Amino acid sequence: MLYLAKRWVQRNGAIVLTFHRVLTDSELQQTASLPGMIVRSQTFSGFLKYASEFCEFIDVASGPEWKPTGKLKLAVTFDDGWSDNATAAYPLARQYKAPMVIFIVPEKTGTELPFWPERTAAALDQDLSANGAEHSAAYIEQAIEKLKELPASERERRIGQLTAAHTALHSSASVDRTMTWEQISELHAGGVRFGSHTSTHEILTVVPVAKAEEEIAESRAQIEQKLQVPCSLFSYPNGDCSAPVRGLVVDAGYKLAFLNQDPGVWTRECDPFLIPRVNVCEYHLVDSKGNFSPLIFDYAVVWSAAKGLLALVRTTYLQKLQSYWHTWLAKIGKQAEKKPLEKSS
Ligand SMILES: [Zn+2]
Repeated sequence: MLYLAKRWVQRNGAIVLTFHRVLTDSELQQTASLPGMIVRSQTFSGFLKYASEFCEFIDVASGPEWKPTGKLKLAVTFDDGWSDNATAAYPLARQYKAPMVIFIVPEKTGTELPFWPERTAAALDQDLSANGAEHSAAYIEQAIEKLKELPASERERRIGQLTAAHTALHSSASVDRTMTWEQISELHAGGVRFGSHTSTHEILTVVPVAKAEEEIAESRAQIEQKLQVPCSLFSYPNGDCSAPVRGLVVDAGYKLAFLNQDPGVWTRECDPFLIPRVNVCEYHLVDSKGNFSPLIFDYAVVWSAAKGLLALVRTTYLQKLQSYWHTWLAKIGKQAEKKPLEKSS
């Protein structure tokens, strides 16, 4: 099944991978980022080595007009613009000739603990340790997921209360920094493509439309002004999108926009503003010994992308079927209306 799914994906499109952070084992002990955002450096290296041999890297900006080559097509994207993208991921991507796209958050460049999930995780972690409770990644993850659902103002109020008592948060988290504009320029000169991930990483579906519009348009203007090239790529923070948010991204002048919720395959039929990606973290890539495993990658990434594509094909097929059914019913209805007239003439 896995083999067939892979062949099917190969023939139909490309898988766009979402990475966030590439960390060394010692950084892993210090970070406040959740496990779902992290890949170890040696795992990333193992993945790139494998993919450069058995898969084919694609340049995202060239669109979905790729000819089937018998190899699985992959695109490597990073969200948020963490500094480890420059220090750890970029040298490896360069070594294995993998094109990289990084979606950055212009108002949060060069800062420590730039996003509220890490600040919240660091505060909760300190609280748990202070109370003698065991560090529980699952508990912290759940708390963060609940906060994501709240309107932005209410979420900020709660996080403000939580982090107010933790003045030492910043000093312990130098590993959790975003890239500076100098690092971004350096990578840009080395061939990395940069897209927008909004100005401040607001979840666009829970803020007022005017705020969403500002986040989408101003981040693009800032990236273009700093890098002096058009910024045509966008990724939705947390992968959250709605029809009005999609419309704002189209109006702002982007050419392609990427999701990150339900895994899927980027095919020719995809809406260019709703391109699915597959989120990748350490446990999607390694075996029980912690080594990169092609089989785990096929199962956790390729298989879930294929399932997403199958669901999409099924929905499209059902919609077509429904539309044929309605057309047929309308035709029958018209014929029935005509018949009495034919008799009387
Ligand atoms: Zn993000």
